[in-house]
Amino acid sequence: MLSNIRIVLVQTYHPGNIGASARAIKTMGLTDLVLVNPRRFPDPEASRLAAGAEDLVESARVVGSLAEAVADCVEVVGASARLRSLPLPHFDEPDAMARELVEHAAADPVALVFGRERFGLTNDEIRLCSHQVSIPANPAYGILNLSQAVQVLAYELFKAWRRRPQGDYRPALPPEQRQPSREQLGHFHDHLERVMQASGFLTQPHARTDAQLQALFARAQPNRKELSLLRGLLASLERHLHREKG
Ligand code: SAH
Repeated sequence: MLSNIRIVLVQTYHPGNIGASARAIKTMGLTDLVLVNPRRFPDPEASRLAAGAEDLVESARVVGSLAEAVADCVEVVGASARLRSLPLPHFDEPDAMARELVEHAAADPVALVFGRERFGLTNDEIRLCSHQVSIPANPAYGILNLSQAVQVLAYELFKAWRRRPQGDYRPALPPEQRQPSREQLGHFHDHLERVMQASGFLTQPHARTDAQLQALFARAQPNRKELSLLRGLLASLERHLHREKG
């Protein structure tokens, strides 16, 4: 279950933070570390701060984009000190986030994503997440060091896993009732955008219509069957548009 929980660090600047984060997650029983475009890696500083968690540093996967890092995940939580304007579902309490991720991880991969030391996650990266979480902290100075934020949230995950209901969670759902992966949702949003363009619905490029619709679908959390129903609807509208044009 914990092996289905991925920790993703986006464009980490200090290699020491990669090592310290590896140590933080290993102490909490997590093993899946993915690095998106780290500035310097591998690096002796990462190994030095990892101490006994060097195996995790060595097995960390390096990928070129956040989309790639989370493509197969059904739930992706972005850790952010500041609330963003994007209306994604937000966990105010890390323990509520941890219970939900641990529950989903019983059947499917999930991810917890951390931003850059200097400017966190971009809006485009937040858009790849399904949820956000903040660690409640001093309102006058609430930004933690990256690896310490990893430690706090990894501890919450470990605690939720230890306290998971006995007999584990309800039996795994049949595939069509499970949450779609981020990649499947991404294909849906691309399809929706194509139809909105072709039909002339998107007239003002800066209205953020697609971001608002993405947020709506993130809140609705369609399962795989509902998503394929929506894809079918889009395909039929597309055929209709082609006939009108032809
Ligand atoms: N200057 C950046 C903060 C970077 S801290 C900013 O203003 O966004 C590096 C990362 O640690 C953040 O991207 C976030 O993933 C995590 N982090 C730090 N403090 C946090 C907090 N209070 N709650 C949740 N995540 C936090």
